[in-house]
Amino acid sequence: MAEPVELPSRIGILPFRNKVLLPGAIIRIRCTSPSSVKLVEQELWQREEKGLIGILPVRDAAETLSVGSMLTQGTDLGSSKNQTGLSDSHKLDGKSQQEPIHWHTRGVAARALHLSRGVEKPSGRVTYTVVLEGLCRFSVLELSTKGTYSTARISPLDMTKAEMERVEQDPDFIALSRQFKVTAMELISVLEQKQKTGGRTKVLLETVPLHKLADIFVASFEISFEEQLSMLDAVDVKVRLLKATELVDRHLQSIRVAEKITKKVEGQLSKSQKEYLLRQQMRAIKEELGDNDDEDDDVAGLERKMQSAGMPPNVWKHAQRELRRLKKMQPQQPGYNSSRVYLELLADLPWQTSSEEVEMDLKAAKERLDSDHYGLEKVKQRIIEYLAVRKLKPDARGPVLCFVGPPGVGKTSLASSIAAALGRKFVRISLGGVKDEADIRGHRRTYIGSMPGRLIDGLKKVAVCNPVMLLDEIDKTGSDVRGDPASALLEVLDPEQNKTFNDHYLNVPYDLSKVIFVATANRAQPIPPPLLDRMEVIELPGYTPEEKLRIAMRHLIPRVLDQHGLNSEYLKVPEAIVKVIIERYTREAGVRNLERNLAALARAAAVRVAEQEQDRDRDRVALNKDVQQISSPLLESRLAEGGGVEMEVIPMAMGVNNHEISSAFRRVIMSPLIVDDEMLEKVLGPPKYDDKETAERVSTPGVCVGLVWTSFGGEVQFVEATSMVGKGDLHLTGQLGDVIKESAQIALTWVRARAAELNLGCAQGEGNLLEGRDIHIHFPAGAVPKDGPSAGVTLVTSLVSLFSRRRVRSDTAMTGEITLRGLVLPVGGIKDKVLAAHRNGLKRVILPERNLKDLVEVPPAVLASMEILLAKRMEDVLEHAFEGGCPWRQHSKL
Ligand code: ADP
Repeated sequence: MAEPVELPSRIGILPFRNKVLLPGAIIRIRCTSPSSVKLVEQELWQREEKGLIGILPVRDAAETLSVGSMLTQGTDLGSSKNQTGLSDSHKLDGKSQQEPIHWHTRGVAARALHLSRGVEKPSGRVTYTVVLEGLCRFSVLELSTKGTYSTARISPLDMTKAEMERVEQDPDFIALSRQFKVTAMELISVLEQKQKTGGRTKVLLETVPLHKLADIFVASFEISFEEQLSMLDAVDVKVRLLKATELVDRHLQSIRVAEKITKKVEGQLSKSQKEYLLRQQMRAIKEELGDNDDEDDDVAGLERKMQSAGMPPNVWKHAQRELRRLKKMQPQQPGYNSSRVYLELLADLPWQTSSEEVEMDLKAAKERLDSDHYGLEKVKQRIIEYLAVRKLKPDARGPVLCFVGPPGVGKTSLASSIAAALGRKFVRISLGGVKDEADIRGHRRTYIGSMPGRLIDGLKKVAVCNPVMLLDEIDKTGSDVRGDPASALLEVLDPEQNKTFNDHYLNVPYDLSKVIFVATANRAQPIPPPLLDRMEVIELPGYTPEEKLRIAMRHLIPRVLDQHGLNSEYLKVPEAIVKVIIERYTREAGVRNLERNLAALARAAAVRVAEQEQDRDRDRVALNKDVQQISSPLLESRLAEGGGVEMEVIPMAMGVNNHEISSAFRRVIMSPLIVDDEMLEKVLGPPKYDDKETAERVSTPGVCVGLVWTSFGGEVQFVEATSMVGKGDLHLTGQLGDVIKESAQIALTWVRARAAELNLGCAQGEGNLLEGRDIHIHFPAGAVPKDGPSAGVTLVTSLVSLFSRRRVRSDTAMTGEITLRGLVLPVGGIKDKVLAAHRNGLKRVILPERNLKDLVEVPPAVLASMEILLAKRMEDVLEHAFEGGCPWRQHSKL
């Protein structure tokens, strides 16, 4: 490079499209077009001595085809971006010569540093890859594009040695040189700092003449074509240095801006790291100070809690893994909270903590059951048996007790008594309306807002692993698309499986085998058979009014008073009033509404008592003030003693308003509030039920009273039949199920078949009851779904009543299934049904004969007050149902 280059007068030209090769730059190109291949072949490849070619920039014409691509090789500057560009000699093809090509008038002579020849595979075309080095500028005197490639007559543009020496004396040049050197130096140091390269580039500054160095520097920048051209045109070294200084400076600035931005980003990153470090330090300082205020918030606190949770080894391992994950997370990170909540659950669950099982005293247990519950002798006996077995064999896998009965009969309170007798904690899990299996088993943690199931949640709340767990309303679980909770419960109740109960959220097995399960249900029938199979059903039928009265007097009233901060000194509820509440205000199998009504009375009383106490306090203050006027120590001490004593001191209190004091004292020794009819009506409203209801409803032919069994116990069910002009259709309404609809069909068939015998129907005695009429049967309480076969006899009776136009006795209720032939079949729930009839003030009940055995369950007191009539055939029912016997009998008597 130092050697001055001898330029030939004519040189082969390689056009560079939109690209300039500056002296000192090195570039690699691939020549593929015929003209460029020819040029390289003739000017470089076939020459023995090193040949030169001229690189001439061409301005982009509209349709320049790219034939070659070139790779670049940067200069030693190690600049961030190397040159890219395109060489295209296609324009020199004869065909495209008509098109306007803007040749630049100045170019750079270049020599090949490296040459390699290749042959393209399928076409056999020859290509060259050339590494070119720009040497010196030239000016084109004349361009000839005649041959395969262009040639030009040129003249050199570089200064001669003498000229150069002269310029070097020029003070402007010296100043410019210094300026350039400083800027270039700066750039080099910045780059070296960035890339950590040694001082190789700096050597260039000392060895290479500055005007050449200016070219080398600029060649390594990524600048526009226009700028490249103007650099090429800067033949005057002073101009060239000025331009180069400007470009180097610009490059320097852009590097600095980029650096600034990078630093800013880095700074932000390290801010969060810094925060983390500071937090760690703060934690250490707090520990040092023993300042454990937020210990529970602390992961360390959590770890301690986990360590003392007594997890089984496999769970502990799992928890450790999760804890490690948590420790690596930042609190703001998503997933941190869920992970933490999960670990808290693991730490809180009672893996080993258990309530200590006291030595069970069966006698005490029995006493406790007796004191908590009135009656229920059979149930209590069964519970004592259950407890006795547990006492003898604590780990016995006894059956799960399931109390079945209407609401408010004491199922829940019996279960809690069992817990008390065993000295265990009690937890109630409500299963009513649970349709989702996840309610029992939990959601997997992959769900947002996932939670453990109700069992695990309940265990966390009681915090012992051996509580008595009440699965309340186990008959109310349903199943839908979200799975079958009953199947999950099956696993819970199975002693073989519940050792490793798998909650989806917990994801580690939990041992439920120490839990004592007790279930409750309103009815056994909806419980899936496999579940029922694992339980022992204990039925709790409803109570008789007498039993309710006893329960109210002995248990409910004291409890209700206590709950309202009262006692019998404040409020008295006489038996007669309780009876009225039972008969007129509630019609239920259990005592829940009774308890509610008593609570309403207690609330009303509490308000009155509270008001009076307030008045009394006010009066007392007034009294004290007056009394002090006479300032008698004796009086004051006596005043403090109580109502009775205060009475005595009144006459002594001269000057005190007598009337005021006596009224205050009257309240102080106030007699208890006794609930009377007036207060009852004021608080509870007018009575809801009366004995006349049935009589009123059964006042027309076609209406009849049946007895049904629902989840609320036995109920009275009216059946209404009527007929109208029509075509012999049967209409049924009142939300009836298939079985009850079929019963209605059977009833109608039976009545039609016996129309003549029963002397029913039209005046002609023809027998076709349905001639020209429709029958409509309705079961009131239309909003309540009804089903079952036990309405059979009721349906027949109401139809017979309708057709014979005779009223059914209003004091008689009935139940029983019928066959087509008129046999009366036994039905279930006899005790509840008889109790319901009794509750509703009915005096006679017609039952299937084969249900006789069930009457032993009915309390004798109820039986004694009612007439039970047994029926084998439908005729027997009719005989009992009508005043004066069955129409058929009458007919046959005739
Ligand atoms: P269930 O669970 O059957 O719906 P609960 O156990 O909640 O009914 O009972 C309702 C209320 O009636 C409770 O306060 C309970 O103590 C009371 N109770 C029910 N039966 C009796 C009884 N035989 N003796 C005393 N109290 C009773």
